[in-house]
Order: sequence, then structure tokens, then C-alpha cells
Amino acid sequence: MQQLIDGYTRFRSKVYPQHSKLFEKLSKGQQPQALFICCSDSRVMPEMMMQCDPGVLFSCRNAGNLIPPPSEVGSGVPATIEFAVRVLKVPDIVVCGHSDCGAMKGILKSESLESLPVVRGWLEHAGPSARWLTRMLKDTTSMSFEETLDVVTEANVIVQMQNLRMHPSVDEAIRKKAVQLHGWVYDIGRGDILQLDAEQGCFLPLVTGERSSVMAPPGKQRKIA
Ligand SMILES: [Zn+2]
Repeated sequence: MQQLIDGYTRFRSKVYPQHSKLFEKLSKGQQPQALFICCSDSRVMPEMMMQCDPGVLFSCRNAGNLIPPPSEVGSGVPATIEFAVRVLKVPDIVVCGHSDCGAMKGILKSESLESLPVVRGWLEHAGPSARWLTRMLKDTTSMSFEETLDVVTEANVIVQMQNLRMHPSVDEAIRKKAVQLHGWVYDIGRGDILQLDAEQGCFLPLVTGERSSVMAPPGKQRKIA
């Protein structure tokens, strides 16, 4: 905890004074550029990855970057989505998975969830990913656990994007062409991002020309959609 308090002390003494005008402006309201739905994992830092100031990303974080149906208001996720789309009118929504995700590992190794009934219930929102994976693995039994984890991580992003469209606010905004959806996977070790190319049905580097991650080597992009 002392490390966190020391950080706050530096923020108060050095960072805040340098950006006081920005904070004063932000104290009157926000106009974020995107709703960013990602995992709670401590290694995923959207503001650092996107190099953006406070006020740019409206975040929604939970284990596994899952999006339950609109009826499940208890999780808070549907309310966050509705507010972002109808009140803040964000033009873009990013669903961002990541490498080495504990939630995705839990899906693959369900026995590890025996003492975690709440987590197990929450991960049911990723059920279609697991079922899809099981079907796919019948034809690709040579995959290692790490490769399988990469695949289910990507599949989960696709499934959660589909879940997102079930929310009336999002469906309405898509019909009005007021919002665009993006599916990303962040590789922690490499610091790079792949994005879902819906037309090609695979994940490709977010920035054209950038080196592909190990999850999708150049010329060997895995078709999963
Ligand atoms: Zn995670």
C-alpha cells in the first residue's frame, strides 16, 4: 500500500500541477472518445496503451471482458453501456481481450473454479466461446494449451461483440451509424494489439505494417470468424 500512497504523493506534487488546466476542464464534464471494455487484469492499462489523458476513455472492466445480456443489470455492465451510448454518445466501442487471461484459463480448466462459484457463474457469459472452441478442437487436437488459450481469447472477443449488439442502445446506435464496434486482443509480453478483421475473419495488426504478434504470424493468420 505504501507504494500506492507514494505514487499519490508524486501525483499531487508533480503531475497534477502540470495538468491542472486539464483537470479543471474535466471537472465540468466528459466527452470520451470511446467506451473501452476490457479485463480487470492489472497488466492491461488502456490509458498507457493508447497514450491518452483522463477524459478520453470511458472504461468498463471485469474478469474476462465479458458483456452479459441487457437483462442482467446486477453486474452494472448493461448500465455502463447504455450510459456511454445514449448519454455520452461515444462514437466507438472497443472490446479488448488480452494474452494470458486468467478468466480464459478458467474457462479451459473448469476444475480450477471449484472454489470460485461466483467466478464460475460469471464466466458462463463466455459459454459460447467454450462451446465454439470445443467444436473447433475436434479438428485441431495438436494445439498446445497456450495456442488454445490464444484461440479462446480471440473467440471470446467475437462472442462478446455479438453480445454487445443485443443491447438496445447499441443496436439503435449501429442502425443510425452512430457507433462502431472494434474487437482487439492485447499481447502483454509484446505490447502489441491485434484487431478483428470481420471481412477476412481473422485478427490482424491494429497498425498496418506493424509486426504481427505470435498469435497471428504474417501470412498465417488464423481464421476464426
Ligand atoms: Zn483477463
